[in-house]
Parts: sequence; structure tokens; C-alpha cells
Amino acid sequence: MNNTTGKVVGVTGNMLVVEYQGNVKMNEVGYVVIGDKRLKSEVIRIRGNLAEMQVFEMSKGIGIGDTVEFTSELLAVELGPGLIGQIFDGLQNPLPEVAKKCGFFLERGVYLTPLSETVRWDFTPIAKTGDTVERGDTLGTVPEGIFTHKIMVPFNLFGTFTVKSIVKPGTYSCKETICELEDKAGKIYPATMVFEWPVKRPIDVYKKRLKPTEHLSTKVRIIDTLVPVAMGGTYCIPGPFGAGKTVLQQLTSRYAEVDIVIIAACGERAGEVVETLREFPELIDPRTGKTLMERTIIICNTSSMPVAAREASVYTAVTMAEYYRQMELNVLLLADSTSRWAQAMREMSGRLEEIPGEEAFPAYLESVIATFYERAGIVKFKNGKTGSVTIGGTVSPAGGNFEEPVTQATLKVVGAFHGLSRERSDARRYPAIHPLESWSKYPGAVGAKKTAYAREILFHGNEIDQMMKVVGEEGTSLDDYIIYLKSEFLDYVYLQQNAFDPVDASTSSQRQRYVFDLLLLILMAHFKVKDKVEARAFFNQLRQQFLDLNGAEMDSDSFKKIENDIKDMLAAKQVETAEELTTTFRKTFE
Ligand code: ADP
Ligand code: MG
Repeated sequence: MNNTTGKVVGVTGNMLVVEYQGNVKMNEVGYVVIGDKRLKSEVIRIRGNLAEMQVFEMSKGIGIGDTVEFTSELLAVELGPGLIGQIFDGLQNPLPEVAKKCGFFLERGVYLTPLSETVRWDFTPIAKTGDTVERGDTLGTVPEGIFTHKIMVPFNLFGTFTVKSIVKPGTYSCKETICELEDKAGKIYPATMVFEWPVKRPIDVYKKRLKPTEHLSTKVRIIDTLVPVAMGGTYCIPGPFGAGKTVLQQLTSRYAEVDIVIIAACGERAGEVVETLREFPELIDPRTGKTLMERTIIICNTSSMPVAAREASVYTAVTMAEYYRQMELNVLLLADSTSRWAQAMREMSGRLEEIPGEEAFPAYLESVIATFYERAGIVKFKNGKTGSVTIGGTVSPAGGNFEEPVTQATLKVVGAFHGLSRERSDARRYPAIHPLESWSKYPGAVGAKKTAYAREILFHGNEIDQMMKVVGEEGTSLDDYIIYLKSEFLDYVYLQQNAFDPVDASTSSQRQRYVFDLLLLILMAHFKVKDKVEARAFFNQLRQQFLDLNGAEMDSDSFKKIENDIKDMLAAKQVETAEELTTTFRKTFE
């Protein structure tokens, strides 16, 4: 414990200048004492014996001469069983508890323990007395919801230890000592199920980082087939207001094939966060049939929180994600919206009177964004097992202009870009991801050659569409018109997906591969049609069949019937025989 104290010598908004004697370090937490309240603050700049600090709360009432007590600790979160299913604010106060205690918003200076001390966990020891252990090694397990939660040697204990004693199987609260660890010098460290970790320091307890090459199935067709995400990879969803960023993230949190979802919600609209808080706990997990909260953590910024707490929330979220990765799980972190986070940075930087970069964002914006996304990754532990943190962040540039600094800085570091288009959302083509402007560096559900083929059709179809806007349909050749119809068909029946249809809302990789092959046959075929009217009528009919197929459970009788109908329709209309088409298909894609 640091005994350094200081006195407030300046106050501007949430920024304090504090004169101190002794030692103070960057990002150290201190408490401003006013009356019987202690307000949490963080050191963000040091100049001589002056520390500039930001208060995580409303700073009203803080005056010159008030005392600040430094802690010598960095802003940290508590890690242990009981995080899953919780809704926290950016400083890890459990919000439902807050609501019970002081209405929806937290009273100043009230900090609640993130993890309940009364809940008892069913602990099964794994380590034995006399074992040599180091940080991250498993001491035992407790069941947490649908997972086995590993109780590990705290990551902040460096060096090797001997297990001096460990409790018997039984129920313990998370703050009871379950194990005594002895270091080389004979010093004893009592370990509980909980420890703290500073939010801005990546958890580094693994053997090596792997390249993210394993496909992460989101069940959203346009993503998985055209612009896929990888386990341990990163992606961003920039889009104008109302284009569907939040809906897309909610779909992903529900259907993506990961173990745990962590949502960092920074609302665009007032009330949006409250909506998330109300709606989310009611959602059902399509895989377990239980509530989705059994594998979800929500970190939420309330509108009453000052910028500093908003800035902290993404770090709180990613630290928890890394903690669960340590249990060999696949974690998906969704940040909505990172623009709010960047704005918090901009405000803080402005108050510090730093030299501003583009659009008044701090000059270090890029490096901060890069550092955040770099915390994603798939890692290998010393036992050979792996775990991953995948990060997906939305960006909400004003007017949907992707040239602005936050989008640009994010684009430099992520592995996939899902740009939402106002045109598509206005036309209610959901999800409104732009198929041609978006990209991904990761392998997808259907294979690169097939993806490239579809992209080619979309690209070509779009060109013809643009041209038709100038020369009209009459000025377009029948062949070109058919390519245009094919690209529209692909868009309607595959890239667009109905979030409200129980079957269509999520498409497994297996089903995507199957259906996409059928679709490719249509895209590759040549058709016997005498004019554009006939061509359009044919594709309209085909489209209706395909939409029906999208609503049918795979392997059901109705699915098979519609599939056969589609194949019959093709056979009747295509120039080549079914065998010829299959041969071309093989040659093209194998
Ligand atoms: P953003 O977060 O980009 O501001 P939202 O995700 O809140 O936008 O979406 C705004 C509205 O658009 C939603 O309330 C919904 O009506 C509609 N919408 C967005 N995505 C879809 C979708 N996949 N399917 C149907 N409607 C959608
Ligand atoms: Mg939104």
C-alpha cells in the first residue's frame, strides 16, 4: 500500500491537478476524499510533483485543498467465478445490484464488489499439496453455469510456488482461502478464487500466439461466405446511424459458435443501453435452450457516467475476455460502438490540452485502437490446448463517412471489414453489409474459389446495373441482363437474411456449403430464354422457390421437395445438361 497523499490544486470539469509528496505512477488509482465519500480517480499525466487525474464520477463538490489518497494500484478488475451472466458498468460495478441499492444509477462514491461474497461455489481441488505451480496453473475447478470454471494460480503471482495446503472438495465463497502457496524464500501467499488484474495490461499467461486461421461461424451468410471472421481474429462494422450495427451484433451474440460472449455497450441513443439491459436477459440461447445470459457478460456505460469510466469500459471487457480464454474457451467480444469510446478519448485529450490530431482526436488514437484490437488472438497454453478472444467492434462515423479517423485507424488493424451501407439499409436489404466494399483476410465457410466466383458475379452485375441506369434496360444485351439478374438473385436469396424467421435467422456452415453449391449451379448455368421478360420471370420464380428453401429446416421433407423443384426448373431451362454443368462445376472449383 502506498501512503502517498496529495492536495487538489486545480479542478476543471472531471480533471484535477493534484500536488503530491512521495511516489505516484501513471494510471495509478487515487481517491479524492470529500466528506464521507471517496471518489475513484486515475492519474493520466505527471509533471514534477503535480499529477493530473481524471475522476470517474461527477466531480461536483471537489474543491481546492481536498485530499487525494493514492493507492499505487492500477485500475484493475476482479477475476473469478461469478462474472458470467452479470451486467457491469465500466468500473465493474454490478448494475442490477446498483439498481437495487440506489435506483438505476450509482450514487457517487459507492463501489460495489463485482463478485458476490455470499455465493458459495462447489470447489473441486486439482492441485495437490507439494505440487510445484506457477501463475495460470489450475488449482481446482468450480461449475459456473454451463462451464467448468478453472480456479488458477493468480496471474499476478510471479515465480514458482509449492502448494503448501489446499482445501478439500466442498463449497466455499470466492473470498475464502482455498490454497496456500509458498515461494522459494518460504513466504506464504494465501490464494482465494479471486484476484485482480490491471485492465490496461494484456493477460500474457500462454506459451505462444497462433495465427487466426480457424473459421468462426457467425451463422450470418454474407459474413461467413463472403467476409468471414476467424477464431481469435478481429473485425469491424462501420456504418451510419440506423444501418443495423446493433442488430447485427445482437444476432452474432446469439448465434455465433463461441463459448462466451462479452458485450461492451456504449449506447448511441439515450435509452439504447437500457433497452439492451431489459431485452438481453430475456433472450434464449438457441444452443442450450437456456437464457443467453448463462454465457454472456455485459459491460454497459450508463449515460450518467463521465467519459473516464466510458474509456475504461472496453478495457474492463477485454480483460474479462482474456480471463475466460485462459480456461481454453473461445470468447467473442463485441464492442458497440467504439466511436463512443474514441470520443471519450478525444474529450479527455482536449481537457489535457494535448496537441490534437485529425478531427481533434488525440495523436495517439491509432496506437490506442491498435493496442485494443491486438488483445484479440488465439493462443496456445503449455498443455497444448488453445483458447481465443475474437474482437468485433462497430464504428459509427458521422454521416457514414468511412474516411474519418476512427474508421481509418480501425481498418489498419482488423482482419475483416463489414461496411454497412445506407443504400442497402434504406432498401431494407439486411444485413446491410456492402458485399463489394467489404473484405476479409480470413478463410470462410465455402472455400476461396467459390467466394471469388460469387464476388465476380456481384461485381459484374453491379457494373451492368450502373450502366442500365444510364442507357436503360433496352440498351443492355440479353447476356448482360442475365448476369445482372443472377447477381440480384444471389443478393436476395443468399446475402440477405431474415433475422425474424426462426430458420433463416441462422445458417450453419454445413448448410451454407450445401445451399451455396446449389446457388453456384444457377450462377454458372446458361439459360434458354428468348428475351428479358422471360428471363426476369424465370428468376422471379426461382427466387420465390429459394426463399421458401431458406425457411425450411434442412433434411426436412419440404426442404428436399423445394430443392428438387429448383433442380427441375433448372434442368428445363438450362442450355447444358445436368452432367455437363456438374463437370464444369468440378473443373472450376476443384
Ligand atoms: P445502428 O446500430 O446501426 O444505429 P440498429 O442496429 O439499431 O442500427 O438498426 C436500426 C433499425 O434497422 C432496427 O431497429 C431495425 O428496425 C432495422 N434493422 C437493422 N438490421 C436489421 C435486420 N437484420 N433485419 C431487420 N431489420 C433490421
Ligand atoms: Mg447501434
